[in-house]
Amino acid sequence: MSNLPTAQPAPLSPTPQQVADAAEITRIVMESADPAATAARVLDLIAAEKNQPLVGHAAMRCGVLAWCVQTGDHEWHESAHVQVAQECGYESSGHDHAANPYIDVKLIAEDDRETGVRGAGATVALGDCDLTADGLRREAAKILAAVPRLLAMAAMLDGKPAYVPPTTWIDAAEVRTAGANGPVFSAYLHTPTEHETGTADNATSLVVVPGATMDAELDVDGGRDLREQLVTFLPRLDAMIAVLAAKARVSA
Ligand SMILES: [Zn+2]
Repeated sequence: MSNLPTAQPAPLSPTPQQVADAAEITRIVMESADPAATAARVLDLIAAEKNQPLVGHAAMRCGVLAWCVQTGDHEWHESAHVQVAQECGYESSGHDHAANPYIDVKLIAEDDRETGVRGAGATVALGDCDLTADGLRREAAKILAAVPRLLAMAAMLDGKPAYVPPTTWIDAAEVRTAGANGPVFSAYLHTPTEHETGTADNATSLVVVPGATMDAELDVDGGRDLREQLVTFLPRLDAMIAVLAAKARVSA
């Protein structure tokens, strides 16, 4: 018999102590200066304890703006993002497109503490800039206008020899530190293709690319991590130098 009902766990009954605790929590919430805010704070604490948001709980959802995805007690409202990131196929080799989408748009608003107006002055955040609705329409129109030109550009390459990324790119090595906005630097061997230079006789070089533009202030663990990465980096650099030396001997 395969369709026997499966046993359901019996619902737990609260102990007298839990009933008393719940009554005490309710009393504290209702007697506080702002019961709604206190209830939201209590639910925040429970959510943190459970290590997950209390999805679906009315008090957790933003009651100010329909598009806001913030939960619990908050003054800063934010919508979900609209993002477009490119996929070049070499994301594992030191550049993380998903973390750096070229289109990243969200709605934002902030409560005004002085006037008590909640969710006032909603704007569109595009990159580092704030836009009005019309500003966003203007940018969207520019994207739409660019699309046929992009497709025409792709059509210009049809039937031409395909770009072949340098295979040595997979030898890329990088050093990252905690808190920096990307690799501190990365290195890879690069041989320009005939397609790029018009000649088949292209020397290979070791390309070193500076990365992070933001200082990283490391603690002890961060310092040890940096050291560990440099230790890992050195043999990969040695391997690249060996390839470079072998190529130089061949062409000499
Ligand atoms: Zn909100």
